[in-house]
Amino acid sequence: MPTKFLHPFSPPAADNFITIVRAEGCTLWDDQGNRYLDALGSLWYCQVGHGRAEIIDAVADQMRLLDAYQTFAPFTNEPAEELASMVAERSPLSDGRVFFCGSGSEAVDSALKIARAVHQLRDEPDRQVVIRRTDAYHGTNFGGTSAQGIAGNRQGWGDLLPHFVEVPRDDIEAVSTTMAAHEGRVAAVITEPLQGAGGVFPPADGYLAGLRRLCDQHGALLILDEVICGFGRTGRWFGAQHYGVTPDLMTFAKGVTSGYQPVGGVICSRSVCDVLERPDWMLRTGYTYAGHPAGMAAGVANLALMEAEELLDRVPHLAAKLTDGLAALQADGLIQSYRGTGAVYAAELGYDAAPARMRLLEAGMVVRPIGTALAICPPLVISDHEIGTLFDAMADVLAKEPAAA
Ligand code: PLP
Repeated sequence: MPTKFLHPFSPPAADNFITIVRAEGCTLWDDQGNRYLDALGSLWYCQVGHGRAEIIDAVADQMRLLDAYQTFAPFTNEPAEELASMVAERSPLSDGRVFFCGSGSEAVDSALKIARAVHQLRDEPDRQVVIRRTDAYHGTNFGGTSAQGIAGNRQGWGDLLPHFVEVPRDDIEAVSTTMAAHEGRVAAVITEPLQGAGGVFPPADGYLAGLRRLCDQHGALLILDEVICGFGRTGRWFGAQHYGVTPDLMTFAKGVTSGYQPVGGVICSRSVCDVLERPDWMLRTGYTYAGHPAGMAAGVANLALMEAEELLDRVPHLAAKLTDGLAALQADGLIQSYRGTGAVYAAELGYDAAPARMRLLEAGMVVRPIGTALAICPPLVISDHEIGTLFDAMADVLAKEPAAA
């Protein structure tokens, strides 16, 4: 019998949940005393590991001083100002500004609205088309649902937003043709730097630069959805820097606080801000909890901790360890292939990955099944020993999977 909690992205009839009661570093414990290695950073977000006193204390201290207060004009607060500066300065849009919200989905919908608003303000009201890529994941609000390229997630909700056009994942010619077919009507292209939840697909060589070029040629904005790639996952602060592309708008969430508080946001380039900063215009979108002091304090403490522990510099080491492990599984014929970059990978099994994921859970390893692949996205503090235990367990489990035969 299911409990009162209707779980997200879960079968509503499911009633066999694992109750996680404690977490420290990369280790989780359930209420039965079982321990697990968190090889997915919870849900692609926990960069600094669990139970970090630096962040917990910063949030508690902030809440004792100012628990919460709204940030609609004329109000602001110090941690929101500080986090906005820290985020902008670490991004390729350092002279831009940061709009805060509470999740990646809110960030995506806000970015889509801001992109459209820019064109409206530039007297190009017909620019409403948004180009999305197959396998893209952009959250579950109506904008993000319309923008995502995972067909199953778009179905079953009735009509979504108009003006979204899909292009095959790495086909830059298709983008060019679509731009030409909708000349003067394309508001934006939205893409993750590396597609995450759709299967961990790095972009084809030169693809993102091609998008930038086409957006410039056709007057469209480039939105990079950095919800997974942002904050060190690729080894740079943002995927934009890793792949050498400068967007007009960047969405973020997850890693900005390592999940200690729910925070998302949109970084707007200076040229976008120049359009918005008109004395006669008002940004009529935003959320009650935007710039929430507790979330902002978590973000400030998390980024400070990432710097103090030089976690970005650790990523090449993690990349080497993770790809060594994946290559060994492949050499032993236990996986077909693998893909990813930095500290985010998918092991392609070539058959339904859900049963293997359950066996791995029984072996104390948390990874995520995506179709025929298993996603790995550990905290950036994961040790070599922990990585070793993950691959030992994968080798053991995958060797016994009947579908592997
Ligand atoms: N965009 C991307 C690229 C994501 O990976 C996600 C979540 O995984 C989202 C948006 C949605 O974020 P949230 O679940 O915080 O709403």
